[in-house]
Amino acid sequence: MDTRTISEKYAKIGNYLIDNVPELSHLAGAEIIYLSSTAKKKSHRKRVLGQCEKVAEKNKWAIPCDFTVTLFEPNLMALSDEQIVMVIFHELLHVGAGDDIEQGHIIPHDLEDFKLMIDKFGPHWSEWGQVSMWPELTIPAAEQGASD
Ligand SMILES: [Zn+2]
Repeated sequence: MDTRTISEKYAKIGNYLIDNVPELSHLAGAEIIYLSSTAKKKSHRKRVLGQCEKVAEKNKWAIPCDFTVTLFEPNLMALSDEQIVMVIFHELLHVGAGDDIEQGHIIPHDLEDFKLMIDKFGPHWSEWGQVSMWPELTIPAAEQGASD
């Protein structure tokens, strides 16, 4: 069962990162909807924390944006807020936006991970909260009902 709801919390984190991280600044005009999913998504027997998808033109009447970033709540249970910020950072690196965001595409990992994540935060970026580099980022409290 995969029920997805729009997450204001993740949108605030994503917008903060886009506004403050130079490597994401090209996404300033992108229409991105952040979703919280109830699915325990797996791929190759590994838990999937997040997923970035391009919205097909024919589906935009229902999902009015260029990309969605989905976080899979059951797989995030053991993660700190700081680690969730890193997951959102990672997912935003998948958003390929050229001059025209509507022509955007999904960027695959350049290694098994993104080289940028490893260069910036080290190979264990998902294990350690690194958000001290963004002291003004306040993680919004959990939304009511979001953890049900
Ligand atoms: Zn990825």
